[in-house]
Amino acid sequence: MRMLSGAADERDRLLAAADRVRSSERGDVVHFRGIIEFSNHCQQDCLYCGLRRSNTRVRRYRMTPEEIVEAAVAGSRLGLRTVVLQSGEDPWFTTDVLAGIISSIKHRAGVAITLSVGVRPKREYRAWRDAGADRYLLKFETSDDALFALMKPGCALKDRLRCLEWLRGLGYEVGSGIIVGLPGQTLDSIAGDVLLLRGLEVDMASAGPFIPHGDTPLGSLPAGSAELSLKVIAIMRLYLPWANIPATTALGTLGPLYRAEALRCGANVIMPNITPQRYRPDYEIYPGKAGSTEEPRESFNRLNRLVAGIGLTMAGGYGWSGRRREEKTGGARYVPEDYQDR
Ligand code: SAH
Repeated sequence: MRMLSGAADERDRLLAAADRVRSSERGDVVHFRGIIEFSNHCQQDCLYCGLRRSNTRVRRYRMTPEEIVEAAVAGSRLGLRTVVLQSGEDPWFTTDVLAGIISSIKHRAGVAITLSVGVRPKREYRAWRDAGADRYLLKFETSDDALFALMKPGCALKDRLRCLEWLRGLGYEVGSGIIVGLPGQTLDSIAGDVLLLRGLEVDMASAGPFIPHGDTPLGSLPAGSAELSLKVIAIMRLYLPWANIPATTALGTLGPLYRAEALRCGANVIMPNITPQRYRPDYEIYPGKAGSTEEPRESFNRLNRLVAGIGLTMAGGYGWSGRRREEKTGGARYVPEDYQDR
């Protein structure tokens, strides 16, 4: 709590400490993950999200399985070793359709695959893992039960947490995280979020500021604070030294320099958007998304320059979390990973 609310000099010490821990535990490298936003259809109605099903102003799209695989192959040619397949909760992508996409990408691109497609039954998670998926990203958004229920009508925090448990049990690297600055969220509640992330021993932890979307019920609220988001990133680095922590696109949307700052206070992952340009404007979870008008190569090159500009380099290898390595070696905690393939 004190770390979240501390004065300016404490804040500077916190961010510097997180930068040192990132360097010693994870190295002076940044992992690139190419994200493909393959469908904006969604059956959920999250109050904060522009893709919520009640928003009739969205032009809905679905990439075809072939387009998704091609986008992944193109990403691997840019040098990316991980692709993230993200979408709204879209049942058109059945167990088998998505499993087919995963195995073709594995065959053709040889990249690690992260899925981020929301809450699904355990048997689907298993089928996708069997097809070759490596990681799963499912943010719990807030650890406050009541706030969660308010923000995600018809959903319960415990169900989302159960999904994380299943995913872990199935051998996925598991990512989760929060939105900073949801209405009614307190610093106490954010402190609880970090403790939950630590308790879950997630491999990846993410914190991005809330950005209001005009076509949602939260459209007239103020955005979450970039400054607070940076502090949360720094605290996550101290509490989860083994984790991969992204410099979130939402932070980049609040200001062009914030992602670089995040990489100097604990973050070690960046996610260039490799969705084909024609679909990007319609994946508007929040407005003004950083990079939404670029071609994949432009996004990749711009973020590469950003990383080089702050004295870091793009990592080789798949970028597994430090927790996994620790499991593999049975060795001491928090061994920095050696960037080798599995
Ligand atoms: N449908 C998937 C993927 C969600 S989109 C799922 O439910 O897991 C990815 C993330 O975008 C969400 O987890 C949420 O944290 C973030 N997000 C959505 N709307 C946002 C907004 N208005 N401001 C900031 N982050 C937002």
